Amino acid sequence: MKKIAVFPGSFDPITLGHVSVIKRALPLFDEIIVAIGNNSQKKYMFDLKQREGWIKGAFVNDNKVSVDIYQGLTIDYCEKKNAKFLLRGLRNQQDFEFERSIAQMNRKLNDEIETIFLFTDLEYAAINSTIVRDIIRNGGNADQFLPANISI
Ligand code: ADP
Repeated sequence: MKKIAVFPGSFDPITLGHVSVIKRALPLFDEIIVAIGNNSQKKYMFDLKQREGWIKGAFVNDNKVSVDIYQGLTIDYCEKKNAKFLLRGLRNQQDFEFERSIAQMNRKLNDEIETIFLFTDLEYAAINSTIVRDIIRNGGNADQFLPANISI
């Protein structure tokens, strides 16, 4: 059976931190679906199609990586895609506390799907989409935190 992982997130925008987690997870899975969660309650800085295009551009040479958009519960989306693994990145203790609760609740909702965590590479541990958005909003240059195909 194909080992499929879903890497869910807002990717507003995708950063080198996300890219690093995806690339390091590639040897573990047959396919990684980078899934942009579209939550109508949430305000995003970048348009959904824009975010999707940036992720596609960053993985244009990786045929194991696909990009999709979903609504609703991540765990339901994994089931729909026949993905038994949910991939998340961990940067720090805050991520850990938050992610632990989500992972444990998700396991209660569906115990056939395992959440797999990868610690971020040290050099990307400080990269955060919220701060990247602040830099861009204030006219700074965030290129060093973003994949080369993105220029804002
Ligand atoms: P969400 O809104 O679900 O937090 P994000 O797009 O911010 O979505 O993040 C998606 C995933 O990427 C999460 O697992 C998050 O911990 C991880 N992530 C975000 N930034 C980094 C980074 N710099 N290094 C590693 N993982 C990261």
